[in-house]
Amino acid sequence: MGKVLIIGAGGVGTVVAHKVAQNPDVFTEIMIASRTKSKCDAIVKAIGNPNIRTAQVDADNVDELVALFNSFKPEIVINVALPYQDLTIMEACLKSGVNYLDTANYEPKDVAHFEYSWQWAYKKRFEDAGLTAILGCGFDPGVSGIYTAYAAKHYFDEMQYLDIVDCNAGNHHKAFATNFNPEINIREITQNGRYYENGEWVTTQPLEIHKDLTYPNIGPRDSYLLYHEELESLVKNFPTIKRARFWMTFGQEYLTHLRVIQNIGMARIDEVDYNGVKIVPLQFLKAVLPNPQDLGENYEGETSIGCRIRGLKDGKERTYYVYNNCSHQEAYKETGMQGVSYTTGVPAMIGAMMFLKGLWKKPGVWNVEEFNPDPFMEQLNKQGLPWHEVFDKDLEV
Ligand code: NDP
Repeated sequence: MGKVLIIGAGGVGTVVAHKVAQNPDVFTEIMIASRTKSKCDAIVKAIGNPNIRTAQVDADNVDELVALFNSFKPEIVINVALPYQDLTIMEACLKSGVNYLDTANYEPKDVAHFEYSWQWAYKKRFEDAGLTAILGCGFDPGVSGIYTAYAAKHYFDEMQYLDIVDCNAGNHHKAFATNFNPEINIREITQNGRYYENGEWVTTQPLEIHKDLTYPNIGPRDSYLLYHEELESLVKNFPTIKRARFWMTFGQEYLTHLRVIQNIGMARIDEVDYNGVKIVPLQFLKAVLPNPQDLGENYEGETSIGCRIRGLKDGKERTYYVYNNCSHQEAYKETGMQGVSYTTGVPAMIGAMMFLKGLWKKPGVWNVEEFNPDPFMEQLNKQGLPWHEVFDKDLEV
């Protein structure tokens, strides 16, 4: 049915490649391209399908991307490199007539700033070119938005309160490690918190607000209010929402390490001079921390990510909780990667599948909640991320 190009050969790229290869009726030709070609070759070897092609590409370079796109001629690019590459890849898609999907919004390298404005600015150009761009199609952002769209479509007349709850109750047996790219992860967590209430954004100190939330099959976990990018598009696309927040669990050991990293300046993203060489402390830290891709083997426990929603149906108050629990070990057995990469890579594959099947095809730049959630929800159950629903119970939020 379609030709797909995956850019990025990290934890998420590995999962996307496995899942794409598992669906040969939809993805008839596959290429994986990244900065380091040997990593792409290793993924192909692990999958054991010699028909998957690989290539080296610097995704910061539009001309290199265009040359690659023009030679392979994919219908869609799944961008699972880093958020820094979103705009160059979108630019190359426009130049080569290729559709686009990613899992994280663009961030400039020199400021940790999360907003969709840079990518939304491409809307008209994608529209005019007749190309589709699907933004934020991992788990959160991604499934969190699809869950919300599904709730709005089927269960609420007026959705009023949205809390996205993200728990990782896994144990990788390392003193400190991040579950995805450490640079991106630490930039996100050390930011001010932010949530939406009554038409305004409220800013908090980093990790200032927290409370115990109970996660299915896991129990209570201290959960911290963070800013997360999908809040921006969800309150825009569902204007009845009065309050939208995002919560993520962290253990005390993790937070202590994070505090020390910040206090000693290792979370800095500006350049410092070290013996005449310019280095960015956070990038150096990434080089010495455990590689998130190597955590899988000894990772136990599971993740639990969902949406807790309150609003009105037929004039009565209703609550709704929809979630997925994902076992790190099961994810590892299937793809060689832990649950955080798995829960991101599977939705990215499904998004591309939705596009190639013509179900999510409309020229322009869109967040996932702007498409029909039903076929996507159906695929989540088939592709390894089954979901569960709870109605009219205490949401704790
Ligand atoms: P990794 O760091 O493991 O992998 C990133 C990959 O991109 C690496 O293979 C890297 O190459 C490659 N890359 C980086 N820069 C370039 C470049 N200039 N040109 C070509 N390739 C490049 O990250 P993850 O797999 O953990 O994360 C991938 C993406 O998924 C990130 O954008 C992250 O924010 C997002 N994500 C989204 C989530 C969600 O739920 N929505 C959750 C988790 C992650 P090399 O190997 O040579 O360094």
